[in-house]
Amino acid sequence: MRPDDITRVLEEVGAIRQGHFQLTSGLHSGTYVQCALVLQYPKYAEQLGRALAAEFMDLRVDCVASPALGGVILGHEVARAIPLRADGKPVRAIFVERDATGTLTLRRGFHVEPDEHVLVVEDVWTTGGSTCETIRVLEQAGARIVSAGALIDRSGGKVELPVRTEALVELKIETYDPLDCPLCRNGSVAVKPGSRFVRSTS
Ligand SMILES: [Zn+2]
Repeated sequence: MRPDDITRVLEEVGAIRQGHFQLTSGLHSGTYVQCALVLQYPKYAEQLGRALAAEFMDLRVDCVASPALGGVILGHEVARAIPLRADGKPVRAIFVERDATGTLTLRRGFHVEPDEHVLVVEDVWTTGGSTCETIRVLEQAGARIVSAGALIDRSGGKVELPVRTEALVELKIETYDPLDCPLCRNGSVAVKPGSRFVRSTS
């Protein structure tokens, strides 16, 4: 998939929407992002995984790791798209998830080998916080993090991670205090993006 095709598909399925939205944070925005709406189609998930994996073909990747829940499907598809490890073993896709205290941890018997080369994959970076935490957890477990990738970087390229980063789509999404929102001033009303039948009229 080329960059133009990726953006077109994301818009077609509503994973990227333009309009006037009230986010769960209470802030208003002209753009809404929900990657689950594209990853619900295995066909697109597979194509996007292949496109993201292509960004890392110059690296040795033994294992792909993602923060649950958002990163799991994409991480799985990225791992599927990577040929066998150099030692001939299949590449794994594992995930970290939050325990009762809210800390990301490896569970379910997942482990990494000493110096295993791991690529961290997430669906969307807002600040990159979950990817950063995933990197730390896996490094503490003995892995070597070779790079990090995302479907969408909505920070406008401001994400700072301690490894090389690649995102298929880069967006700069402005958010506004509802009391100082240019979209409100233009007279439109913010909608909650979960209301699926609401369409932007702008
Ligand atoms: Zn507004």
